[in-house]
Amino acid sequence: MAVVQTIKERCQTCYSCIRNCPAKAIKVVEGQATVVEERCVSCGNCVRVCAQKAKVVDSRDMDLVKGFLSSDQTVVIMLAPSFPAAFAGVAADHLFEALLAMGFAHVEEVTTGVQLTVPKYQELLEKGDQECVIASYCPAVVGLIEKHYPQLISYLAPIDSAVTATGKYVKKKFPNAKVVLAGPCIAKKEEARSDKRHIIDAVLTFKELKELFSQAGIEVPKSKTEKNVGENFLPRLFPLPGGLIKNLKLVDGFIPELASVEGIDNCLNILQNMSQGKVKPRFIDILFCQGCIDGPEIDSDKDLLTRKALVFDYAQKKLNNPARKLPFLDLTRTYSDQSRQLPYPSENEIRKILKHTYKIKPEDELNCGACGYNTCREKAIAVYQGLAEIDMCLPYLLHKSRGEIEYYRDRLKKTVTPPSHYLDAIIGESEVIKNLKRTVEKAAKSDSTILIQGESGVGKEMIALAVHNLSNRRNKPFIGINCAALPELLLESELFGYEEGAFTGARKGGKLGKFELAEGGTILLDEIGDLPLSMQAKLLRVLQEREFERVGGTSTIKLNVRVMAATNRDLRKLAQEGKFRIDLFYRLNVLPISVPPLRARTEDIPLLIGHFIEKLTKDKNISPKIVADETLELLLKYDWPGNVRELENIVERAIYLTEGNVIREDCLPPHIRELRGYSSGQSIKPIKEAVREIEKQLITEALKATKGNKVMTAKLLGITRVTLYQKLKEFNME
Ligand code: SF4
Ligand code: SF4
Repeated sequence: MAVVQTIKERCQTCYSCIRNCPAKAIKVVEGQATVVEERCVSCGNCVRVCAQKAKVVDSRDMDLVKGFLSSDQTVVIMLAPSFPAAFAGVAADHLFEALLAMGFAHVEEVTTGVQLTVPKYQELLEKGDQECVIASYCPAVVGLIEKHYPQLISYLAPIDSAVTATGKYVKKKFPNAKVVLAGPCIAKKEEARSDKRHIIDAVLTFKELKELFSQAGIEVPKSKTEKNVGENFLPRLFPLPGGLIKNLKLVDGFIPELASVEGIDNCLNILQNMSQGKVKPRFIDILFCQGCIDGPEIDSDKDLLTRKALVFDYAQKKLNNPARKLPFLDLTRTYSDQSRQLPYPSENEIRKILKHTYKIKPEDELNCGACGYNTCREKAIAVYQGLAEIDMCLPYLLHKSRGEIEYYRDRLKKTVTPPSHYLDAIIGESEVIKNLKRTVEKAAKSDSTILIQGESGVGKEMIALAVHNLSNRRNKPFIGINCAALPELLLESELFGYEEGAFTGARKGGKLGKFELAEGGTILLDEIGDLPLSMQAKLLRVLQEREFERVGGTSTIKLNVRVMAATNRDLRKLAQEGKFRIDLFYRLNVLPISVPPLRARTEDIPLLIGHFIEKLTKDKNISPKIVADETLELLLKYDWPGNVRELENIVERAIYLTEGNVIREDCLPPHIRELRGYSSGQSIKPIKEAVREIEKQLITEALKATKGNKVMTAKLLGITRVTLYQKLKEFNME
């Protein structure tokens, strides 16, 4: 569970957290901005900037500490050296007394850890084995390196942080004690939780510590500032900007190249430059905040200068035990590559995403930043990576809401929809579809019987409806009946209706048949090829005489209905086999319309997919999706025996299986995914180019399999990490 949590009800989707997250660790799902644990470095920046207080620090450790204190265990609290800034006006001794009163057995200052670790740094720098050393005190910086700049892992000092070192010291002194840290830092919670050595048992922020005091009814008395005794105890200056450097200079005559960088922008800038090899300092202390006195949960209303002064004052306070000898402790630590490679879209995919929010031309990209991303392209990339939602665009949403209002206004004004709209229901721009649309228009102008033929799933009913809607009968009913779905007796009464008492179970007052229900309009006899022979004779009579009788009735009813029939079977062949009346075939086949199978118009597949996605996501009120290039490639390879209906089903399935905005290959059914291996149609190309393609594909697959873990990826591919990074750079996959 991420250290920073979102209170959903409070999130007003202002995207402020996205804008301010240095790790691209905020993901928007169904309008809610949530933290992606694998990417989050627990810097707490989102907690600081969220005006709605929707981002909060996970407070499980509060309960843990309360549990420790109410048990009979020894509980030791360690105070981060920034505490004088957090408890302004409180004398350190009074604070320690209050902590003891709350039940802690001992208070240890983290300055102990500073004293323990600084000599280790001096040793490391003196030895000079590591060409570049990055101090490992700030967990937000360590997190950034492990998760986002893994190239720099080897520069991190293999030395415990001051907090962990203090924890080790306390555990040595009080072997069975529970060790609690109180400090200004959120990332320390993550550092303690993820440390498999379990040195620190709980981490409280200063804000939480104050809350504990208040819950316990303990008021820490305020007093005058610390008595100045005129001598700085340097470890107490550790939470100030450059605090570590001040401590390292302790050794006489030892002046290594030391640099320190503070604050989020400087921190990101130096990490970026170092990862690109632009700078390589001999030693650098990088702090995410302006020193820990600026930590996200310092809970101080004082400005930075005042906080600094408070820490300085305390640094000059006399030590209780200046001659204390610290034990030797093993303070080595290791790091791991926790980076996850995010997929990167092709130019085509970026354009597809931009198009969704009407960004067709470069000047449509307003780069207004309302979505939390600096540019529309950055946002499109985040959409592809599953971090942002497609319609997270203020100008687009405004446009859309205006457009929808206008649309409904228009609809209110118009009583009859203009006929040209009906052809739009036939999706496609291929030549065969253009011809089909022309045929439909012509067919609509006549009143002749139509026979629509085509494979299952090509959309024969939609064609019939389009003809009806374009014809003069459009304001009258369009009635369809599936001739294959009903037993013969039932079919007859369904088609022609029946009189009261016509058969056992007949409804009182009789029932109108489909022919009568369609009066003045159109009837579609679907699956006509499955009509029983006896019914074929009856239908033939209706078509010839243009009249019929209800079942059990004697009076003749005149027919004023346009008849259309549809089938996926070859009626002429059925007639030759004696299964379909040839005279009925001729009666039906006055105006034949043939609907092409999907494989005959593959160029329409992208359009159809777009149409189904729009329709389905709108109907189900879910965020729009785009189809990744690799997915489309497979869909174009498939031969679609179930035609458009099958395509619609597969798109619907993929929408439900897709997490995020991009429909990827793994959301397709296995029989389509298998087409990835099909290679007989591959074109001949230079060996070098083919090898590059294969390498790229293997790296992509290995990264996918290892969820972006580069160490594992390199292992899987049998290459070194350096080679992997070179390849990633070469293929623009960084
Ligand atoms: S804590 Fe920091 S890294 Fe994590 S989501 Fe918030 S701003 Fe991003
Ligand atoms: S500078 Fe200090 S408070 Fe800020 S993230 Fe780093 S360790 Fe935590």
